[in-house]
Amino acid sequence: MTLGGRIMNKTDVERTLFDESDGFELVRFVTEELNAADIDGAVNGVAEHLRKRFSVSCVSVREITAAPLSLRFVYESLGDETKTHRLGEVIRYDGDNWARMLDVFAKGCYIYDREKGDTPIEALGPMPDPPACVLQLPMFCGEDFLGTIDLVDFEKPHKWNATELDALRICASAVCQRLYRTNATFMSKTSRNEFDPITGLISFDSFNKKLGERLGDMLKTAPVAIVYTDIRRFKYINETYGYKKGDDLLRIAAAAMSAGREFTPDFMICRVHSDNFVSASPLPEELMPSFPDYIKKTNEELCGLLQKEFPDVRVKINTGICYVYDPDTKPATAIANANLARKMTRSEQADRPVIFTEEMMEDIKYQEYLTAELPNAIANHDLKVYYQPKINCADDSLYGAEALVRWQREDGTFIYPDKFIPLFEQNGNIVDVDFYVYREVFKYLRRRLDEGLPVVPISMNVSRIHFKSDRIVPYIKELLSEYRVPPELLEFELTENIYIKNFEKANAFVKTLQDMKIKVSMDDFGSGYSSLNVMSVLPIDTLKIDRVFLKSDELNDVDKTVLECVISMAKRLGMNVICEGVETRSQSQFLKRANCDMIQGYYYGRPMNEESFDLFTKEKLG
Ligand code: C2E
Ligand code: CA
Ligand code: CA
Repeated sequence: MTLGGRIMNKTDVERTLFDESDGFELVRFVTEELNAADIDGAVNGVAEHLRKRFSVSCVSVREITAAPLSLRFVYESLGDETKTHRLGEVIRYDGDNWARMLDVFAKGCYIYDREKGDTPIEALGPMPDPPACVLQLPMFCGEDFLGTIDLVDFEKPHKWNATELDALRICASAVCQRLYRTNATFMSKTSRNEFDPITGLISFDSFNKKLGERLGDMLKTAPVAIVYTDIRRFKYINETYGYKKGDDLLRIAAAAMSAGREFTPDFMICRVHSDNFVSASPLPEELMPSFPDYIKKTNEELCGLLQKEFPDVRVKINTGICYVYDPDTKPATAIANANLARKMTRSEQADRPVIFTEEMMEDIKYQEYLTAELPNAIANHDLKVYYQPKINCADDSLYGAEALVRWQREDGTFIYPDKFIPLFEQNGNIVDVDFYVYREVFKYLRRRLDEGLPVVPISMNVSRIHFKSDRIVPYIKELLSEYRVPPELLEFELTENIYIKNFEKANAFVKTLQDMKIKVSMDDFGSGYSSLNVMSVLPIDTLKIDRVFLKSDELNDVDKTVLECVISMAKRLGMNVICEGVETRSQSQFLKRANCDMIQGYYYGRPMNEESFDLFTKEKLG
């Protein structure tokens, strides 16, 4: 939809008989009319009076809706009954036109005159009867743009003079005041500052504010559902298709998420930032069981829409829901909880919303506790490095070990890495954990060397987060010179997805280590994208096959074939192969027959503390 017409200026204005006293008279009449208790009767009365006073064909009042960029016809006075009624009709604008419209309204009102050769008017949406002239008056309450009053004539042009326009603007604002005081749908009012210029939704700030004001009332009807939605891969759309297209996506999303809900009382939606949206609406308890399915369906439909628009990017939509029952809940908390639930969506079930639970809150508190405690744990050496042996297939001798971290609580029990590594990868603290582990490993090797005991190579895990900064190589160099450990005793394990997602940096890192005579392995091979392609271009020393292939004690034929294949390919590429997660004798025997070089797993040894690993080494190597 494009906006025709021009902004009013003095040259449009021709003197007619309407003078200051007429203006005063009009304003007085309208304000008095609006004092009537029956608001609908009052506004209809004003519309009719304006239509007759200015002898135009039609006067209508449109107000903003809960949906973005939309105006709905809410009152109408039509002189000629053969013309089309538009009451209830909703006109949705595209973002550019909406912005232009507000621009025009900020400066004054909007005038269209067919005889002047203006471009066809579409500001009122596709018109059933093409108008000869239109005057559109904005309704502002303070800064808030709440709608328009439209004077339309189908037959003849109308020369508006400045006094008329001034009087009409005052009337529009009086109507607006009256509606705003009493009409609940106007609660979703918006303004130039309070609205998001891209989607036309209210801004996050006003959403927060309004939710705070309205929550108590909303809860009188039903619990309130806060729905937080994140469109994943939006970044790629911006990068692939450009920002203008990215903005289109946001508008499509905003429209889809509010579609059909314009008429739901108290429905509110806004864009939190970039591609994150949040909505709130009362949800009768009997609808709760089906609500996640409803959201899932909406998400799938939106995904389908976006897929058509942006075929090169596989968009995913994650949604979290938080149900609010307590009127004292702070909007910010409810939104944060819904967002938290959203983060719990599993990628396999991207479209399915996750509902916030108190247990999630417990998890979060625990995570906060771990994050706060980490510096102490490092300083007090509560983080312990455990060593899990790697065994040579050829003769069951000890090849080396992998360093695995554990967090020992005060009571002696342990927190395992799956409880804190993902968390610390998220907040970046993993760098401190890894550096601590590396130092412990260097210390351990130095001690054994100093004591003249046999030593075996130790491998350490490298988190992908290290590639966000360049600290890791200097740190390893620092440890090498501090502890004077032969580099041949060191190995670093990088997971396969590090190679894929940070190819350039990972590649440079691998080369640097190898120049220093330190070995590198690809960890968790087969757990994710498994690309033998990557394997063939990277100079990796060892391939670590993930334990996904060892699901059962007795291997099935498919897994056997895959394992044999991977092992023989890796060997042809000149790599060593180690299989992890080996728990049974039959698994180990199969791997030996398949020409695997090394085995790591409970069958040969669990991760053990330094003291136990000393003993283990002694048994194996003397
Ligand atoms: P990972 O690197 O794949 O380490 C192997 C994991 O498999 C270890 O779990 C180990 O205890 C477990 N495992 C070994 N043999 C068997 C077996 O026979 N059966 C089964 N079911 N499991 C076995 P852990 O120690 O809980 O570590 C989990 C993950 O945490 C590690 O997976 C690694 O990705 C990460 N991690 C551990 N320590 C560190 C560290 O110091 N730094 C970093 N960045 N990540 C670490
Ligand atoms: Ca590992
Ligand atoms: Ca692994």
